[in-house]
Amino acid sequence: MKVDVNEISALIREQIKEHENVIHNEDVGMVLSVGDGIALVYGLDDVMLNELVSFENGSYGLVLNLQEEYVGIVVLGDDLTIKEGDKVKRTGRLIEVGVGDNFLGRVVDALGRPIDGKGEIRFSKRRTIERIAPGVMMRSSINEPLETGIKAIDAMIPIGKGQRELIIGDRQTGKTAIAIDTIINQRDKNVFCVYVAIGQKQSTVANIVEKLKFSNALNYTVVVSASASENAAMQYIAPYSATAIAEEWLENGKDVLIVYDDLSKHAVSYRTLSLLLKRPPGREAYPGDVFYLHSRLLERAGKLSKQFGGGTLTALPIIETQAGDISAYIPTNVISITDGQIFLLSNLFNEGFRPAIDSGLSVSRVGGSAQTRAMKQVASSLKISLANYHELKDFSRFGSDLDPHTKAILKHGDVLMELFKQDQYFPFAMERQILELFAVNNGFLDSLDMKDVTPFLDGLYEYVHNFYPHILEELKDKKEISDALKQNMMDAISDYKEVVFRGEEILV
Ligand code: ATP
Ligand code: MG
Repeated sequence: MKVDVNEISALIREQIKEHENVIHNEDVGMVLSVGDGIALVYGLDDVMLNELVSFENGSYGLVLNLQEEYVGIVVLGDDLTIKEGDKVKRTGRLIEVGVGDNFLGRVVDALGRPIDGKGEIRFSKRRTIERIAPGVMMRSSINEPLETGIKAIDAMIPIGKGQRELIIGDRQTGKTAIAIDTIINQRDKNVFCVYVAIGQKQSTVANIVEKLKFSNALNYTVVVSASASENAAMQYIAPYSATAIAEEWLENGKDVLIVYDDLSKHAVSYRTLSLLLKRPPGREAYPGDVFYLHSRLLERAGKLSKQFGGGTLTALPIIETQAGDISAYIPTNVISITDGQIFLLSNLFNEGFRPAIDSGLSVSRVGGSAQTRAMKQVASSLKISLANYHELKDFSRFGSDLDPHTKAILKHGDVLMELFKQDQYFPFAMERQILELFAVNNGFLDSLDMKDVTPFLDGLYEYVHNFYPHILEELKDKKEISDALKQNMMDAISDYKEVVFRGEEILV
């Protein structure tokens, strides 16, 4: 038999009408029905949206639906021991998490409770997990690079501190790898990082934590995890909690990087909750406000103006596509909310071209203003050369005889593509990226066999590091290639090529 909660609550209201003058307590309600992690509760007339309530069995709940006769509450813990008729108490608080520096190096759940077995986390401050994003007048424009250490990104799709850059691609295309490498590259750069794992396997998260620890990156990072085994409510609130933790640093003038891995699963958890709460389904069965779900989250990233401390929050949301379909509902939403996207292609990935970044479709709408002058000097024409190369390459498949000019362009493009291959967990310092790009741009590698390209570049860095260290220092400090430095670099690379480099055996 289907029980109509409206009927029940009307009945209860009728029955207690006469007592209402005697007891009037809106702070305690009663469970009408419970199941699938959702409790419908009668009597909490004054409860707020997103308020935390407590059940008799000790579980907490989050108020998500306010109806006239009852409220819909998602249970944040065990719902099996909640029974019809149980009391539900208001806490008067919106849902909050602890924040502060003690969270660095720790793994916590969506409510900020430690799950790494390293004991309690002490904190002196809590923040509500939802907050209205800073307004226009509090912000300033983005003008500093957030270095990812990944050559293809820093050169062609530069990310600025305070930017929102989407990482999007099919499953197993290296999305997480890009985010983790970016976190690793923030070592000694005074950037705090927050990694939010939503709906992932616990073993995957454990692996990531291990890698961060191994790369000495955990001590400036917090991992917030709502794994696949946790209920939809925990997965739904995890990114908001994590952002609250990040905001505490942002408001104290720090640079913070946050990775949401991934928002597709986040949208699914919200869809689950909405359907259980009987909200009307829309496109792809998502509720109508799923756009707002992600926009209010990503709007919290940005760069605050000097007056407000000048802190930045850079967001790297991740979205998983199905068979490269970026026109599905959630991908298009998040593309339109972010300031650019890094597209990963599974065919490039499978061909061994990793990171599998599509340089044509990937953009950063903040772009050049987030690059140092030196990087701009070597990177400004890369996207166009690669586009030309791809076009010519497609075309040249049809003809066998190519003129020398075309051959030269193709060779140069091949070298560039080779340069952009990069192993996971090995982010490159900015000065090394610039040195390599400078060598390639000036044609030093065009005469090499393809197999020699990577050994040449590796050896070159080693050589310059040992014999011309001032080149790297100047690139690092001045962030600009002066005429004198340019000459120095030309000389160093010529020396290396003519005297030192002998194919795979390097004589340094
Ligand atoms: P999922 O969809 O499962 O979340 P993903 O898109 O996040 O996958 P990753 O887990 O980052 O992809 O990477 C998939 C595999 O490819 C991993 O085994 C990873 O080690 C490997 N990989 C990623 N990037 C590189 C790279 N640059 N060089 C070599 N291997 C890589
Ligand atoms: Mg992943």
